[in-house]
Amino acid sequence: MPDNRRFLLQRRPDGEPVREDFELVTQPAPDLAEGQFLIRNHYASLDPAMRGWMDAGGNYMPPVPLGDAMRASTIGVVEESRAEGFEKGQWVMGLNALEDYSLGIAGGFTQPIDPSLVPSVTNYLSIFGAVGMTAYFGFLEVCEPKEGDTVLVSGAAGAVGSLVGQLAKIHGCRAVGIAGGPEKCARLTQKYGFDAAIDYRGKDEAALQTAIAEACPAGVDVIFENVGGPILDAGLMNLNLYARVGLCGLISEYNTDAVGARNLWNLIVTRSSIRGLLVMDFVERFPEGAVKMGEWAAAGKLAIDEHVDEGLEGAYDSFMRLFAGTNDGKMILKIA
Ligand code: NAP
Repeated sequence: MPDNRRFLLQRRPDGEPVREDFELVTQPAPDLAEGQFLIRNHYASLDPAMRGWMDAGGNYMPPVPLGDAMRASTIGVVEESRAEGFEKGQWVMGLNALEDYSLGIAGGFTQPIDPSLVPSVTNYLSIFGAVGMTAYFGFLEVCEPKEGDTVLVSGAAGAVGSLVGQLAKIHGCRAVGIAGGPEKCARLTQKYGFDAAIDYRGKDEAALQTAIAEACPAGVDVIFENVGGPILDAGLMNLNLYARVGLCGLISEYNTDAVGARNLWNLIVTRSSIRGLLVMDFVERFPEGAVKMGEWAAAGKLAIDEHVDEGLEGAYDSFMRLFAGTNDGKMILKIA
């Protein structure tokens, strides 16, 4: 069996993960039993949710056991197979780990994919993967947008947020995005078609509240929340009557104690609803979402940016980009 470099979780992070919480080791690739196949991982998705999997409590998935390779969605090629339906050379996608080789099990989460159907095989980790489906189902099903609505998106220059803004425009809404720094804000309006962009850096909650009011003169009908904290609190103070708040993520609180949301009373004043969303609830309907996203992308209505870093040895630095905001699009790690 070939050597298998594996990015192990060796210690549960206390706040922000540090390099010493992980270790890159080389172990032999696993032997195959009947019904199993060996995946040569080519690309891994680096997702904010992985931070929760490092904690003892996990999040919507159990924690990664200490000493095990960090769980991640990967795409790769079947290297060897003792499983029917998985031939050597077949491209597959599944929930595996940050490692050169993963063990696939017939009937498990790993599914065949066809690279000839997409411009780049990495699109299976972005627009046609969990990120694209989070934007599609999270926005259209959970936030129930109506034509003419004002939609406020936080984390708007990121993988999910940039797609949500574009979906808002496709559905006749006014899209306002919040992102960090002038470059990302320029990308919101110039590339993704947002009507207005707000740079949250250097703004306290009061300044954010004012900036949102200025960018949303008719108030906010939908918030698609990726960040939480003062950004969410400032948004809540701008809600219209019967607004919908879709809670997708709270990335500002993944490495720290929670500080929001304090302005929930404005949901009462405005008779608004707030609802958490989890993309896994829509797994059965992913093919439907992928067809729609594919149609819009082919029609030039959806731009998707992918930030591909190279090398398993850089997994820690690449993962931490998500918290520093130095990823420009869907964060992907090229393994081979
Ligand atoms: P992403 O937006 O591509 O990358 C994360 C971005 O978050 C960074 O680029 C940074 O952008 C911003 N950020 C990080 N720390 C921040 C802070 N303290 N304050 C404000 N902004 C901060 O990542 P993604 O994969 O698309 O995920 C976005 C959100 O969706 C995350 O909260 C994630 O957990 C959530 N999510 C949820 C589901 C679900 O099923 N519920 C599925 C997928 C993702 P700036 O430079 O603009 O700060």
